[in-house]
Amino acid sequence: ARVTAGVTFAARLAFEGIGHRFTPHQATLHDVTLTAEPGEVLCLLGPSGSGKTTLLRIAAGIETQSAGRVLLNDREIAGPSVFLPPEQRSIGLVFQDFALFPHLTILDNVRFGLTALSREEARGEAMIALERVGLARYAGAYPHVLSGGEQQRVALARALAPRPAVLLMDEPFSGLDSRLKDTVRAETLAILRQSRATAIVVTHDAEEAMRLGDRIALLRHGRLVQVGTAEELYLHPADLFVAGFFSELNLLDARVRGGAADTPLGRFPAPGRNDGEPVTVAIRLSGFDVAEAGEGVAARILSRRFLGVVELLDLAVEGCDEHLRARIRRGQLPPGVRDISLNVNRSDVLVFERRRESA
Ligand code: ATP
Repeated sequence: ARVTAGVTFAARLAFEGIGHRFTPHQATLHDVTLTAEPGEVLCLLGPSGSGKTTLLRIAAGIETQSAGRVLLNDREIAGPSVFLPPEQRSIGLVFQDFALFPHLTILDNVRFGLTALSREEARGEAMIALERVGLARYAGAYPHVLSGGEQQRVALARALAPRPAVLLMDEPFSGLDSRLKDTVRAETLAILRQSRATAIVVTHDAEEAMRLGDRIALLRHGRLVQVGTAEELYLHPADLFVAGFFSELNLLDARVRGGAADTPLGRFPAPGRNDGEPVTVAIRLSGFDVAEAGEGVAARILSRRFLGVVELLDLAVEGCDEHLRARIRRGQLPPGVRDISLNVNRSDVLVFERRRESA
């Protein structure tokens, strides 16, 4: 669907009850139901091996799921009785090693996938895509003269040139060094917005997912654990796994008494939980402030690392079996101090069902 120059016709991509097995006794995906809405950037987040790439490959038609259906704008493109081959799906792909052909010019690299068009049309479309990523002036150059970030944008142009209904990106920034990553990520997001593409971006990095995603879908062992905005997942994690994926945590085992979890750091509300119930209290490392002497919780500093914006403290608190860690804004504590008082910020404390060993 051609709308205006370089603008993609954004589509809805839906996974319905997707299951997948590579081997009979090990399931890689279980009953994944998830929709990327038109124009949305949806991040698929999860640890290594959680099934992110497999889900992307199923959407692209490179892999065939064992159960469930994939729909593009309510049309089934993969299901028990339908299988549309990759080239008929209107789905673009950008992979981790976005390798460009070194012996082809930038223009020819971008034109590569436009085989259905005449030579002149393909040239025009490729130039539109290169303009969109701000690299039209390099059309005649070869890949090696471009920086890593620019090459990444060429790969994006190549994927956008056929105006896919949906763009799938698998760890697209992992090959870039960390300084470049921020810039290229921001540029990519701007390009996706301008071209109004629906995009699914795979990452294992929660911060990257928060920077890029309109929504985030978190996978664990092939199951969707939680889907929502960055704020929803960070502030209201469904379980300890989600919380731990977004923040470094101190974990304390506790019991509920009178509607609150009792810990050496104070009592924290545990609504809906019964008296005597064992719980795990998770406190973000960033959840501490230095208190006036005599107020808050007494703690002894065991070690202290300067990290720039914050200092990382290793602390002993009476009644806690394990050390606690805290990130305190630089300049809050005088040098050499040993005994301090801390306040705990309520919104950085989460109470969950008692962790089991696997959590
Ligand atoms: P990563 O971030 O490491 O790429 P991922 O979340 O993308 O991980 P997948 O690559 O989808 O995870 O892999 C999920 C599981 O499926 C892993 O346990 C992996 O070993 C397995 N797997 C992936 N591809 C195959 C295959 N072709 N044959 C057998 N098992 C596979």
